Amino acid sequence: MILERGEVANSWRRERWDSLRLLTPNWQSRLPSYGYEGADPDGYMTIGEVIDFITRYGVVSNSPVRTHTTVTSVRRTDAGYAVATDNGDIRCRTVVLASGACNVPHVPSLRAAVPASIQCITPFDYRNPTRLPEGGVLIVGASATGVQLADEIHRSGRPVTLSVGEHVRLPRTYRGRDVLWWMDASGVWNQRYDQIDDLTRARRLPSPQLVGTPERTTLDLNALSAIGVELVGRLAAMRDGRALFSGGLRNQFALADLKMERLLNTFDEWAHTNGHDDDVPPPERFEATRAPASSRLSLDLREGEIRSVVWATGFRPEYGWLDVPVLDHKGYLRHDGGVVDAPGMYALGLPVLRRRKSSFIHGAEDDARDVVEHLATYLASGHRV
Ligand SMILES: Cc1cc2nc3c(=O)[nH]c(=O)nc-3n(C[C@H](O)[C@H](O)[C@H](O)COP(=O)(O)OP(=O)(O)OC[C@H]3O[C@@H](n4cnc5c(N)ncnc54)[C@H](O)[C@@H]3O)c2cc1C
Repeated sequence: MILERGEVANSWRRERWDSLRLLTPNWQSRLPSYGYEGADPDGYMTIGEVIDFITRYGVVSNSPVRTHTTVTSVRRTDAGYAVATDNGDIRCRTVVLASGACNVPHVPSLRAAVPASIQCITPFDYRNPTRLPEGGVLIVGASATGVQLADEIHRSGRPVTLSVGEHVRLPRTYRGRDVLWWMDASGVWNQRYDQIDDLTRARRLPSPQLVGTPERTTLDLNALSAIGVELVGRLAAMRDGRALFSGGLRNQFALADLKMERLLNTFDEWAHTNGHDDDVPPPERFEATRAPASSRLSLDLREGEIRSVVWATGFRPEYGWLDVPVLDHKGYLRHDGGVVDAPGMYALGLPVLRRRKSSFIHGAEDDARDVVEHLATYLASGHRV
């Protein structure tokens, strides 16, 4: 039985902005025994298309979904788990936590020090620029969400200042193919969790600076500064209504450029070793991220230049309803490849759960197979796994 507090594809219906398209190409939209079959495999789905895609999967897979059922508590019992919902209680031997990795926007505590005259908004509240007051916008965070919103809000005529911390830079296409084709083909996206040196870090990595557009646009920081977005360093503190930014912008840029270069080298090595050099254009290298001649170190939020702040500082899961002691001190689930630290409890859909692709739509298939195999063995063994 699948319990869903809203409707199928709820996160896509309720928690995304109007213009969002998947940053993963259509051919990559795959679920077990189901995939994109339209005429544009290299395109990127709009929100409406994603909702249709997932809703249709629910129907064709004949999934036993009970919608409008919010889980309010999960407790251990002698025989398994007692699941309380606002639509009746359930007892079960095993539970799979597939409640998502991005249930709430992760907003730093600095937000409390933002002057009351400034409108603060998270990506969950944002639908389009008209939700924002006229005037300057400070966007904090330059990963997929931050760069996409910076582009859209700037084009609405509101001057944007983008605060940039650690980020992952990627070109949209590389050697004639979508960069995510390379991630897939070279095996990077399939890399297993138990083969990654610093797994904790890999699981906290920001999303790549990518956008899905019909033109296959690259939306990196050079593209944003070219249209007039002002880049500043990481938001480090708020003091007396002033936002203070770190001075390490150049270093952040150099690090992201270096990591991108290393990844492109990995792709090139894979193509060379596997005899694909003649199938694709030659290797490319991209201009380094241009640092502004001098970046501001502070911005007075009381002066009227900035009228709103968008917190594009990431998302996190929310487990307020889970009454089993399986969370670490930061509130993240303790698990080994989706096998949670409690008998008969499993997880899916978390970053690098079993593979680098785990938290993407197409990552569910392989992970679900592995996790369900463990779960089935657990049930068959009479709980001795
Ligand atoms: C802004 C943004 C853009 C993204 N873009 C892409 C992309 O381009 N490509 C891609 O592959 N992935 C993308 N992702 C990741 C994407 O969220 C996942 O690929 C996919 O949604 C994961 O599905 P899921 O079912 O694991 O989690 P979710 O989609 O979050 O689904 C979890 C479900 O659990 C329900 N739920 C939670 N708590 C409870 C409860 N207590 N009781 C009952 N139900 C509950 C929620 O309502 C929700 O429907 C993006 C994520 C975000 C935030």
